[in-house]
Amino acid sequence: MLIEDASLYFEITKNRVAYQGKIQGRPRFSVLLYADCSALCHVIMHLYIHIPFCKQACYYCDFHFSTNMAQKSAMVEAICTEIGLQASYLPSRHLETIYLGGGTPSLLQKHELEQIFETIHRYFTVNPNAEITLEANPDDLSLAQLQAFKQAGINRLSIGVQSFYEPHLQQMHRAHQAHQAESCIKLAQDQGFHNISIDLIYAIPHPDHRVLEADLDKVLALSLPHISAYCLTIEPQTVFGKWHKQGKMPAIDDHFAAEQFDILIKTLCSAGYEQYEISNFAHAQQYSKHNTSYWQQKPYLGIGPSAHSYHGNTRQYNVANNAQYIKAIAQGQVPATVEHLSIADQINEYLLTGLRTQWGCSLRYLEQLGQASFVQRQAPIIARLTQIGHLSINADVMKLTETGKFFADRIASDLFVE
Ligand code: SF4
Repeated sequence: MLIEDASLYFEITKNRVAYQGKIQGRPRFSVLLYADCSALCHVIMHLYIHIPFCKQACYYCDFHFSTNMAQKSAMVEAICTEIGLQASYLPSRHLETIYLGGGTPSLLQKHELEQIFETIHRYFTVNPNAEITLEANPDDLSLAQLQAFKQAGINRLSIGVQSFYEPHLQQMHRAHQAHQAESCIKLAQDQGFHNISIDLIYAIPHPDHRVLEADLDKVLALSLPHISAYCLTIEPQTVFGKWHKQGKMPAIDDHFAAEQFDILIKTLCSAGYEQYEISNFAHAQQYSKHNTSYWQQKPYLGIGPSAHSYHGNTRQYNVANNAQYIKAIAQGQVPATVEHLSIADQINEYLLTGLRTQWGCSLRYLEQLGQASFVQRQAPIIARLTQIGHLSINADVMKLTETGKFFADRIASDLFVE
């Protein structure tokens, strides 16, 4: 019964198990002492580290980063300190995935990577088969850098290709050139990196679909196990956002974006890729284990400025400011805002992320979360969405149909509870 109750959270160390949460609606907390809990220590956990530096600002990007590298060493030091400060955040210290994202983690030098991984190993045990991903930009992937990544234990690369078409790279103010995107992937493969994902951006304004089709031909020729493809969006706090506000850049054409999404799905799926999440395609089930943990509501710890952590009924956000982050950490404080998630928040998050995946949402889990009948309450909306062919229900599983994938976020919000 304990494991099935979705509102219980465990802290498991070598000789004790503590749990807190609710059993049949009542708050409970307990500590049980055991001589040896090592078997339980193998509960799967996930660690994210945000490296907030980039060579230059891409015109579409609203992630947290700085182009001023002066604080890079101090930042690595602060990240290592935060790992120690937050080591008890997760229910266990056994890591199944580690993800270095950003920003641009491929800007880290060998000794900086070593410093981070030494610290991780000091506070956590890492599964020998753990998925350890590093986000990289093509212009950073030299032979020496790839060898340093390998030595640090990185076994998966997520490369920010975005496009193989030079004018589009320039338009987006990417730091790399088209030829580097292709050559760095081949170099990484030669160095034994077989678990490679690339990011692509589609719906970049163009008179026709030939650029996307040529990009996809290149992708297929590279035999990559994983592709993440995102629709270009115009975010307010970006150069594109500013141009759009000034009338210098039109909005993204929804019809053009939908056509490109359709081409993307058809091309990749007919080449044997599975669209296991709206924006993610995997060959031979080589899913991103780390990102899948987010979509399946698994607890994770995020380290670094702007990083998020999630632990069942709370989420916390570190300050998105490098100087403030370094200062607070030096004083032994984690500069995080904690948000308590209501039952409605938990249900809505599960709908938003779960419906985007091929596994959909479990109706039983939604009922457990809500302690009331989700299906009964949302029956008219579910009926409408299934009738128009956007949603399907099979036994316990509610999923988007192929047509529904084009309206994923709107469908999830239609099903939101208050
Ligand atoms: S897209 Fe990546 S490389 Fe470009 S600014 Fe954003 S985080 Fe940096």
